[in-house]
Amino acid sequence: MIESEAIVTDRQFAAPEVPGQLYINGEWVAPAAEGTRPSIDPFTSKEWATVPEAGEADVRRAVDAADQALDGVWGRTSGRDRRKLLLRMADVISSRAEELALIESYDNGKLLREMRGQVDALPDWYEFYAGLADKVRGATVPLSKSDFFGYTTKEPAGVCAAITAWNSPLLLMTYKLAPALAAGCTMVIKPSEHASASTLAFARVLEEAEVPAGVVNVVTGGPETGRALVGDPRVAKVSFTGSAEIGAQVGQAALGDLKRVTLELGGKSPNIIFDDSPLEDAVNGAVAGIFAATGQTCAAGSRVLVHRDIHDEFVAALVERAANIRLGDPLANDSEMGPVAFQAQLEKVQRYIEIASADGAELLSGGKRPRDSHLADGLFIEPTVFGNVDNQMRIAREEVFGPIVAVIPFSDEADAIRLANDSSYGLAAGVWTRSVGRAHRMAKALRAGTVWINAYRTVSYEMPYGGFGASGIGRENGIEAIEAYVEDKAVWINTSDAAGRDPFRLG
Ligand code: NAD
Repeated sequence: MIESEAIVTDRQFAAPEVPGQLYINGEWVAPAAEGTRPSIDPFTSKEWATVPEAGEADVRRAVDAADQALDGVWGRTSGRDRRKLLLRMADVISSRAEELALIESYDNGKLLREMRGQVDALPDWYEFYAGLADKVRGATVPLSKSDFFGYTTKEPAGVCAAITAWNSPLLLMTYKLAPALAAGCTMVIKPSEHASASTLAFARVLEEAEVPAGVVNVVTGGPETGRALVGDPRVAKVSFTGSAEIGAQVGQAALGDLKRVTLELGGKSPNIIFDDSPLEDAVNGAVAGIFAATGQTCAAGSRVLVHRDIHDEFVAALVERAANIRLGDPLANDSEMGPVAFQAQLEKVQRYIEIASADGAELLSGGKRPRDSHLADGLFIEPTVFGNVDNQMRIAREEVFGPIVAVIPFSDEADAIRLANDSSYGLAAGVWTRSVGRAHRMAKALRAGTVWINAYRTVSYEMPYGGFGASGIGRENGIEAIEAYVEDKAVWINTSDAAGRDPFRLG
């Protein structure tokens, strides 16, 4: 690891103040049991904020509010007014962007410049779904039964529960909230207990944008709070982002009550480097895939598949780049990688480094906590490259959610496809090639919800996002996401005045 003179170790921006109460029915309320949870800054390892812990009674109250809002004014709000509301939210987010980005960076240790990029992009989501809010409509259906007139409508699914992960709380919440509001639903949001502060602070956006009381509520807390929310019988739809393990539990609980469910889960995504790709581009793409955001992204390109003919040269370049990544204060502009978000996650990453070594993978770079004094208080781990990885090893099959990459050689296109698809996950894949034909063949053959050609980690509100297999159920973003928040209703109008229909015949 290089010591950089330029790294600023003093915190350049003071931590914004974070609301200490839950946001329910348009009001700030203390949790019934008055519990709190410290929020630890992973760069300093010090408590920087305190967030309330919602219990069952608080969750019930939030769902009450969401239910009543749906039955009340919000249920009668036109698409035009929902559009205006979403546009107001977009404006308020823009005016609060810096504060929200700073809170996220303090909370989960991701680079401020990454979080600024995310928060600056959020208004696009609200504007996009504002544009759809007054276009949520059904169709008239040409029927073969000539004495019937048929049409469909799209009704709001109802009260929705949004449960999110800690790595990008506001972005993940927005994937759910913007289409849900466009569709006319109400929502109770529960962010991760490891990074709740920004979602609480987002409730100030709701206030300032004059979102009607009860339409959006924020309860903070851990798994118990989430369980209470999923289990509330008035919740019609559960939209979850998190691990495959918890996603399966949440999915079972929701489906057990016959609720609608969307699951956005983890991945073990392949980033595939062909021998016709310019080396520098491919190395850069591999770095973006696994070391950006300290590897804490669902789409992390944690398996790098490399054509044998360029394997050694590519690996040498990747190792050199990895060893020179500047670890540092997430708030400093010249830091390239921040700490891991919290202690248990750091321990998980360290455990996987041991597992990979024990399974016979070759540690080529990193693998340790850095010794640099300016990183001493933070939960840092070096960017880590494992070579000689077999796709059956745990490091190639299980999600680590940290800056660890497994490099796996392949011999030809068919071999690359076989290795890439040999995974229980199927969230994303990257392909680096100059061949147009191969790019299209790979895009078709890969079993992944997103395929990037000569790019990695690009997302947008316009494109559907989600996974095959264990990476989840359903899609977020794009026009399609509205469908996750509506129920289709078929209406049959008998236009015949004739009497005497046979009551015992399906007709
Ligand atoms: P996690 O599964 O541990 O927790 C996710 C959320 O579920 C948290 O808010 C948690 O409090 C809540 N929860 C835990 N147990 C619950 C229960 N029994 N009932 C209801 N809620 C419960 O995941 P995490 O560690 O917060 O996040 C990391 C994971 O999220 C990784 O697997 C990552 O790949 C995934 N992720 C996926 C996407 C995507 O869009 N596909 C995006 C970001 C992160």
